[in-house]
Amino acid sequence: DSVVVSGIQPSGRLHIGNYFGALRQHLDLHTQHEAYYFIVNYHALTSLHDADKMRQYTMDVALDYLALGFDPDEAALFVQSDVPEVTELAWIFYNLMPVSRLERGVSYKEKVSQGLNPNAGLLNYPVLQAADILIYGGTQVPVGADQKQHIEITRDLAQRFNNTFCPDDDPLFTLPEPYILDDVSVVPGIDGQKMSKSYGNTIGIFDEGKALKKKVMSIVTDSTPLDEPKDPEQCNVFALIKLFAEAEQRAEIAEQYRAGGYGYGHAKKELLGLIQDFFAEARERRHELEQRPDYVRDVLRDGAKRARQKTEPLMAQVRNATGLMKTM
Ligand code: ATP
Ligand code: MG
Repeated sequence: DSVVVSGIQPSGRLHIGNYFGALRQHLDLHTQHEAYYFIVNYHALTSLHDADKMRQYTMDVALDYLALGFDPDEAALFVQSDVPEVTELAWIFYNLMPVSRLERGVSYKEKVSQGLNPNAGLLNYPVLQAADILIYGGTQVPVGADQKQHIEITRDLAQRFNNTFCPDDDPLFTLPEPYILDDVSVVPGIDGQKMSKSYGNTIGIFDEGKALKKKVMSIVTDSTPLDEPKDPEQCNVFALIKLFAEAEQRAEIAEQYRAGGYGYGHAKKELLGLIQDFFAEARERRHELEQRPDYVRDVLRDGAKRARQKTEPLMAQVRNATGLMKTM
């Protein structure tokens, strides 16, 4: 049976890259399978050192899930740090992972090249992620393409643990598969790079009014004059339009690009309207939920309880397999 697991960092407000690359799949899958979705505050701590923001963003992610349709009766939504077994398992995994492998991590190297000063947490990020996935026996991990290598590291760690500590016929960990949808696997940001909270190039799922308009209008385009034909497939605006528009409308807009006389300003207005409509209902629901912080906290607490029903027995097996004595 499938067990779906995925995490999202409370490192800033969620954006449309998070939505199309991950969240939408989380929502699609959570009613059909056993699912665990966690707000990975320990991961966010690799880049965010501000307690008030950490608290705020954590609540924001929970609100976003609920507003976008997460049903707490169907699956578990919780905060990573409410499940201490995860960091316990991560420590065990650290000792199975060569430092050189982590130093070659694509996502690590990319963040460093963006000017981020890497702390030990950032280097070890994929190991904690492996603990997150494997501790629930995850089989399917819906993520964006940037996480592909991290899932490979997770599989590698599962195998290393099984080979080192388990009899051949009784492995403890299952190797998970990434669940990545090709046409939404890398959503570009307003500068054309991968949209990412840490790159400051995002359009927020719940941005509205002037702030939303400003972001859409600042999407980078080339300088092809208004009258001339344009290639929609080379355009950052169209890359986003594709996510929101139905097939027919998408084809119409592509046609206008190719015909000429259709400017990037037109395309941006179109996109703005599409975004506003697409999230209108969720936006309303979110405003309502904002008035009910106690409900949101209850959802997270219940989720953590469900999670720990899995993690406590699993950790007993891990301690047994590794010889880590527990006397109480
Ligand atoms: P940060 O910049 O702090 O890493 P982020 O914007 O990359 O933040 P994460 O919390 O790291 O967000 O990622 C949450 C999920 O969203 C992951 O599954 C990730 O693969 C996916 N994701 C993030 N950005 C994109 C994107 N531009 N396109 C598609 N999926 C994305
Ligand atoms: Mg990221």
